[in-house]
Amino acid sequence: MSFRGRFAPSPTGRIHLGNARSALLGWLQARAAGGQFLVRIEDLDRARCKPQFLEDLYRDLEWLGLDWDETPLVQSQRDDVYREALEELERLGRVYPCFCTRAEIARAASAPHGLSEEGPRYPGTCAALSPEAVAERARTRVPALRFQAAPGEWCFEDGLHGRTCQDVATLVGDFVVRRNDGVASYQLAVVVDDAASHITDVLRGDDLLTSTPRQLQIYGALGLTPPRFWHVPLVLGEDGKRLAKREGAFAVAELRERDIAVERVLGLLAAWSGLGDGTPVTLQELVRRFRPELLPRSPVVAREDLLKEA
Ligand code: GLU
Repeated sequence: MSFRGRFAPSPTGRIHLGNARSALLGWLQARAAGGQFLVRIEDLDRARCKPQFLEDLYRDLEWLGLDWDETPLVQSQRDDVYREALEELERLGRVYPCFCTRAEIARAASAPHGLSEEGPRYPGTCAALSPEAVAERARTRVPALRFQAAPGEWCFEDGLHGRTCQDVATLVGDFVVRRNDGVASYQLAVVVDDAASHITDVLRGDDLLTSTPRQLQIYGALGLTPPRFWHVPLVLGEDGKRLAKREGAFAVAELRERDIAVERVLGLLAAWSGLGDGTPVTLQELVRRFRPELLPRSPVVAREDLLKEA
């Protein structure tokens, strides 16, 4: 199948140059391969997503010259599609209702081995509830739905990190595929949507590297073919922490509103991507320079002074 890449932002704030770099690299990868590039709006976190951020996002991409094929899928409009996938997982006996609150999970997992980088491992409290116990609890609480993590190491070949493995069952435990507000979780929606869009290559920040084995388990359970993954090391602030959407200085919308020449911003993004020395550059020139071998393999620090010069 011909190359299909995507950018899947969450409109929870103004996108920053780190997000823009992921969008640019995904776009370059697709265009250099003569393939398609899709945008998908990941707005399942309805409380944090704002129409203004979505509007800014489209404008930012247009300003940068990153065009996309097909009408973007919007996750908040795809409840039915996720429900079907969840029903399929129910039929397969791969999910179960979970009534635990966050506080209960944190308490149950407070034994040292129960904690991973991503927070407490789910200790399996609701894994073996009898139908009667489920009915009883369902009277007072709406359950989430958890996917039974498959045992053992789950490995994949990342385009940038190489072979990457995780023992999901030991480290994360059974994980949520439908939240207790009835909304599909990110892990489920991302798999269903990438498969529905026939995405062949997922390029995204490597903060999601540790989510991928969970997603591979869902692909496996639903009988779907996973894409190739390219997890790009993040752009960090001068404090060594990842850029956050609230850091205005790096917001693309802000640069756009300051009327900075877009070639200067592309020059900066290119410098952070091994595709240039920071001098202004056009998108066409970047397509010419792009080669997958050049994709960044280590984090880069975004210096604010570079931006002031831009
Ligand atoms: N929506 C996610 C984010 O904004 C990205 C998900 C993905 O690329 O798989 O961080």
